[in-house]
Amino acid sequence: MSKTIQTIRGMHDVLPEHIGVWQHIETVVRQALDAYGYQEIRMPLVEKTELFKRSIGEVTDIVEKEMYTFEDRNGDSLTLRPEATASCVRACMENGLLRNQIQRLWYMGPMFRHERPQKGRYRQFHQIGVEAFGLDGPDIDAELIFMTARLWRELGLKDLRLEINSLGSSDARKQYREKLVEYFSAHKDKLDEDSQRRLTSNPLRILDSKNSNMQYLIKDAPQMQDHLDDDSRQHFEGLKAMLDNAGIVYEENPRLVRGLDYYNKTVFEWVTDRLGAQGTVCAGGRFDGLVEQLGGKPVPAAGFAMGIERLVALMEELSVDIPANDPHAYLVMVGEDGSQRGMQLAEELRSALPQLRLVTNCGGGSFKSQFKRADKSGAQVVLVLGEDELANNTIGVKDLRAGAEQETVAQSEIKDKLNQILFR
Ligand code: ATP
Ligand code: MG
Repeated sequence: MSKTIQTIRGMHDVLPEHIGVWQHIETVVRQALDAYGYQEIRMPLVEKTELFKRSIGEVTDIVEKEMYTFEDRNGDSLTLRPEATASCVRACMENGLLRNQIQRLWYMGPMFRHERPQKGRYRQFHQIGVEAFGLDGPDIDAELIFMTARLWRELGLKDLRLEINSLGSSDARKQYREKLVEYFSAHKDKLDEDSQRRLTSNPLRILDSKNSNMQYLIKDAPQMQDHLDDDSRQHFEGLKAMLDNAGIVYEENPRLVRGLDYYNKTVFEWVTDRLGAQGTVCAGGRFDGLVEQLGGKPVPAAGFAMGIERLVALMEELSVDIPANDPHAYLVMVGEDGSQRGMQLAEELRSALPQLRLVTNCGGGSFKSQFKRADKSGAQVVLVLGEDELANNTIGVKDLRAGAEQETVAQSEIKDKLNQILFR
């Protein structure tokens, strides 16, 4: 026998025993986004490498060392998307969705980053992303945050805190950047290798460093708050007033800068302490310059993305109850005749009770082995078509949860009987 092949490091199968949580999150998110008037958009998983270089920024971790980039057979440089905001902007521009229009969009799917795999950090992971285009006020920032807060409530998630910051306009950031370079240059010997490099390429990212030896230095660094332009300050105040009004608790975190270059003004993260080091489950902000940066006319924009693996981990950590997806019923049927009648009856039941999850015992087997399978399936009710039942046009019904004796009912009444047991 040849050696079996395994998944790529940092990439995972989601097995049936875990799929319930995934589907529950997806369903709740879909309904919530729908309720706020957001529409789904689906983009390819692969884009031209240039798209990500131009949007995320050449001197970010993602573009410098995390992208899955390859040449296709034509020699074009392609990249598996590390995030989908850039793809979403590309898709909107290409299809004329941004011409004097407001767009509220969302997407869901896998992203790829060649990071060091650890708990909560994978090489293929999944995001639900939301982007709103054409609106420049703090109201849309607030809407996005309200929406996430509602999602946590509906999913039963707690222990999440909201951190917000403003990165100001690009001009204000330029001036602030100079102040930062001045400050960190004076302490250059205390910077780690990454930060020394960033000092010239991307000094704001030093604030984002997770190196504990540098935290005291970062704490005393000049703060963006003190260098905000009037417009950004007003915007930020407007957002905070709306959050206050809605009773949403937040912390201002002056060191929150986000890992991607395209953000301006509002940035925010939802963070939990329940998941160890990878505690950010959702992150976003404004990116008013991105459309222009990708060659379009300027369009204001804001959005966020949440990591589904981290949401799943938090649901499991908090032992949140999710709707069961075990079958309701399992149909045991004996012999060739039983199988003929059973398969037909099952189809009738599926038509009559669309919400019914019914598994039929394909492949035959003795009563005993079929009951074993029924038990293993997790079904609440076992339906039985044996010789007697076939002869009398009846069917056996055993409600395992009630622990009752098996009853016999007419086949014509089984629909009502199941309704009564399962859906009353
Ligand atoms: P982090 O600081 O954790 O690396 P990030 O700033 O790189 O996150 P974004 O690019 O903003 O993250 O992505 C938004 C969300 O997607 C994150 O908050 C996180 O929940 C999730 N995420 C990002 N990278 C990964 C990954 N490698 N594995 C699993 N989830 C991820
Ligand atoms: Mg990252």
